[in-house]
Amino acid sequence: MEILIPILTLGVLGLLFGVGLALASKKLAVHVDARLEKIHGLLPGSNCGACGGAGCFGFAESVLSGKLKIDACRVSSDETKKQIAEALGRKLQKIEKAVAVLHCAGGTKVKDRFLYSGIEDCVAANLVLGGQKECVWGCLGFGSCVRVCPFDAIKMSDTGLPVVDKDKCKACNKCVLICPKKLFTLVPVTHDVYVACSSHDLGKDTRLVCPVGCIACRKCEQVCPVDAIHVIDNLAIIDYNKCTSCGKCIEVCPVKCIIRR
Ligand code: SF4
Ligand code: SF4
Repeated sequence: MEILIPILTLGVLGLLFGVGLALASKKLAVHVDARLEKIHGLLPGSNCGACGGAGCFGFAESVLSGKLKIDACRVSSDETKKQIAEALGRKLQKIEKAVAVLHCAGGTKVKDRFLYSGIEDCVAANLVLGGQKECVWGCLGFGSCVRVCPFDAIKMSDTGLPVVDKDKCKACNKCVLICPKKLFTLVPVTHDVYVACSSHDLGKDTRLVCPVGCIACRKCEQVCPVDAIHVIDNLAIIDYNKCTSCGKCIEVCPVKCIIRR
């Protein structure tokens, strides 16, 4: 008889805890939107972060909450994006494909002004008097952009400059952010004319350090039939809302700093 009391007590306690847990699990249950798993399952799983989200799951959460557009994922195919849009019951808003371009053609054509023997990294080199190059605006050539690209789209060339493979580039913006000289911009892939210089020095000073730097002669400005190129602060800048890629500016540029990709 004595043994029945603890058994009954434990039984009642067990029942009470069981009911308590069942109620708590109902009350505290976290509602997971089934679309989250679906979107996450459709994504490539590269977790590159190019979209600006915290990996593919972060991107799925942001798309669901409307913080990021579906097209922000640079890796997914058009078909995948369509499926995500369908899962969300939204219309897919297409962003025009862009590609990273380098606004510098100096490289080995520009001499060093001192011997830099520090870490072979552009960000580190730039901390020492703006880098070793005679042109303080130009590429330092240590390939920080090459290393940061998650899609292996940038290679260093023999001319000491990074070259972007437009087919591999997903316009993720990582090279734009890492370059301490701010030499990359993302240009719509339908526009293939760009200025390969970033120097804001006076033309006569640019001439002294780089044979292919913009000398602000304004010949491009005068020849452009659609008023798309202007010299601003000693540097030719193209307005891609106007440029028709006709290439007239390329023909007249005396230093050949306007090039076709
Ligand atoms: S483009 Fe910028 S990051 Fe790339 S090698 Fe040149 S200085 Fe370095
Ligand atoms: S390519 Fe043609 S339209 Fe574009 S900036 Fe040069 S001259 Fe103007």
